[in-house]
Amino acid sequence: MSLIHALQSALGENAVLTQQADRARYEQDWRGLVNNPSLAVILPKTTAQVAEAVKLCAAHGARIVPQGGNTGLVAGAVPILGPDQVILSFSRLRAVRDVDLLSDTITVEAGLTLATVQQEAVKANRFFPVSLAAEGTAEIGGVISTNAGGLQVLSYGNMRAQVLGLEVVLADGTIWHGLSGLRKDNTGYDLKQLFIGSEGTLGLVTAATLRLYPPVATRASALVGIENIEQGLGIFTSIRHAAGNALTLCEFCTQPALSLGAAHTPNGRLPFIAPAYLLLEISALEGARDPREMLETVLMEALEKGRVLDAAIAQSERERLDFLALREAISEGELREGGAVKHDIAVSLSRLPALVRAVEDLVARTYPSLRPNIFGHVGDGNLHVNIRPPAGQTMADIANHKAAITRDVESLAISMQGSFSAEHGIGQLRLLGMAAHKSQTDLALMRAVKQALDPEGRLNPGKTIPES
Ligand SMILES: Cc1cc2nc3c(=O)[nH]c(=O)nc-3n(C[C@H](O)[C@H](O)[C@H](O)COP(=O)(O)OP(=O)(O)OC[C@H]3O[C@@H](n4cnc5c(N)ncnc54)[C@H](O)[C@@H]3O)c2cc1C
Repeated sequence: MSLIHALQSALGENAVLTQQADRARYEQDWRGLVNNPSLAVILPKTTAQVAEAVKLCAAHGARIVPQGGNTGLVAGAVPILGPDQVILSFSRLRAVRDVDLLSDTITVEAGLTLATVQQEAVKANRFFPVSLAAEGTAEIGGVISTNAGGLQVLSYGNMRAQVLGLEVVLADGTIWHGLSGLRKDNTGYDLKQLFIGSEGTLGLVTAATLRLYPPVATRASALVGIENIEQGLGIFTSIRHAAGNALTLCEFCTQPALSLGAAHTPNGRLPFIAPAYLLLEISALEGARDPREMLETVLMEALEKGRVLDAAIAQSERERLDFLALREAISEGELREGGAVKHDIAVSLSRLPALVRAVEDLVARTYPSLRPNIFGHVGDGNLHVNIRPPAGQTMADIANHKAAITRDVESLAISMQGSFSAEHGIGQLRLLGMAAHKSQTDLALMRAVKQALDPEGRLNPGKTIPES
């Protein structure tokens, strides 16, 4: 029996898409940069079906490309150019398996969207903190497999910090039952950590047990106008000292970046013009000090002392969401206006001012017609340093410079002991960076882990680890 027939008889005919028109949306990445054909797209409904599909693919020599919401920014969820790849979509594994209020955990299947997990937490009078602009489409399996960060890492940590247990289908179709909700378990290697952030190259996440937090009672947010990143870090430090972990969001946007966000938000408007902005949010539990009062006190003093240029505190929940929408629309705006050479770099906070200056100098000196679009999670030292084509042009017009720009920007971060990919992962778009910046020891260890878990290279070929 052919692989397609075997998959159809195991999963059902409507769970195996073979027509080009049906496969198309799964074969192209979110940024529209990579589009390679697959043999088929399969849509299993259960963990047992995922395991069966993996065994069938192995028996027929086919390789598997796991796909969640396909919102990843490094083309990790779409095939490489090459034969015999089956895209396995998790979008039909959508059950909430358990909510344990005493343990503060939720157990969900991989295909549930991040936004649905947040809503399920609210229904249970709890809070799930991982939040990013693609949360309506990104799925929990994808968010785990990329160890996504997002807007509230500052206070709650990234996805790795939320995962207490995993269920994973291994490369030979064995199901690893690791769905423990334990907070403490020092019994040998913590195997789940291998799968978090490994971009589907070591195993297929089918379900996860995640931490829940007490509900947030009130939030206050402010948009603050600043002269430069140094001023931004000054105000970040003051508010962090006043609010501690209650400071849940601190985003930095240069003026061009936030203006782009405003242009792509319905009725989007910047409340004032400044060279750069910080978006701050303080969250408070029931009975905690009023977060708005905290923001007002710190910002009033900063304004009086000339440590910020201007500030607007959201006067309503609507206004708070409007501020957030400006920030969240930036990536989409970039895509709609010709794209950008994107980077996702991180350095320690003390080196951020030097990094921003070095990027601005680099562009002014070497690529003067291009437009830097800098924004990101400043509290985590993580900036998206994106370089846009000249106005009215697209990425195709600057294709010749793309590799050199990326090499130059990544090298700046590495020269400051930073990371060239802080939260988006490697996929197939950052493999050159892996080869250039990771040590031989790092790469040898990663290859040894891959060899141990997937000796035949069946899972997500051509991603994460560059060929030796
Ligand atoms: C507008 C926008 C904003 C974003 N903002 C942020 C941000 O602030 N912070 C951040 O960290 N990221 C951000 N991202 C990127 C982020 O990585 C993804 O949105 C999300 O984490 C990926 O989820 P997904 O379900 O779409 O995964 P996909 O794109 O489908 O897959 C991502 C990777 O995980 C693998 N994978 C998917 N599901 C599974 C599974 N069940 N088992 C094993 N492997 C699997 C895929 O093979 C691929 O390698 C943003 C993306 C967009 C489009």
